[in-house]
Amino acid sequence: MSTSSTRTSKFIVIFTLALVVTAVLFFFFSQKDEPNQDIIFSEHPDINGQPILGNQDALVSVVEFGDYKCPACKRWDETILPQLQEDFIDDGLVHYSYINTLFHGEESGLAALASESVWHHHPEAFWEYHQEIFHQQPASQNHDEAWVTPLKLVEIAAEIEAEIDLEQLAADIIEQTFIDELTADTEQVIEYDIQLTPSIVINGTLVEDPFDYEHIKSLIEKELED
Ligand code: CA
Repeated sequence: MSTSSTRTSKFIVIFTLALVVTAVLFFFFSQKDEPNQDIIFSEHPDINGQPILGNQDALVSVVEFGDYKCPACKRWDETILPQLQEDFIDDGLVHYSYINTLFHGEESGLAALASESVWHHHPEAFWEYHQEIFHQQPASQNHDEAWVTPLKLVEIAAEIEAEIDLEQLAADIIEQTFIDELTADTEQVIEYDIQLTPSIVINGTLVEDPFDYEHIKSLIEKELED
């Protein structure tokens, strides 16, 4: 190999290495500096008439746009909500509300009608019922597998400790007594252009990743400082 071609080869190797290093650094810093994709609304969703867990006068409101038929909502309810409850809700700093988001057809609607009925007639039983519906969502379900029926929703009400008038609940599901509440919830889903469940809004900020608890926590702490 001549000296000039050795130099050229060396140059190519160094140049390639430099390119790789630059690409790696660029990737690293662009990842690190990438701002989150939270969306800041001009107004927080209206929680008037919605169930509220925790201190009604809390400084921070966390709203979930959720669907009883959605597996990610079950996961959120079972993993993120308990942390929120322990860190903030139990201390009266944060309250949490749930808005029905009917993304999975008739079954979403049935479960939402049942929960609105319980909220109306037995507000003290609401959160236990709400969590039990998620708890009884089959863990291995695919989205199309049917499991929500009026009978199932009444059975869940019978199984929890809190007292619920089962006949009233069955009638409210069948007769769609609280359909106006579902319509009001859907209007907010449209107004806030909710695309995914769960969508979590903290004092007007829609968080990009509902499962990033550290980020949720830092947003809440910032709201509490302001
Ligand atoms: Ca509602």
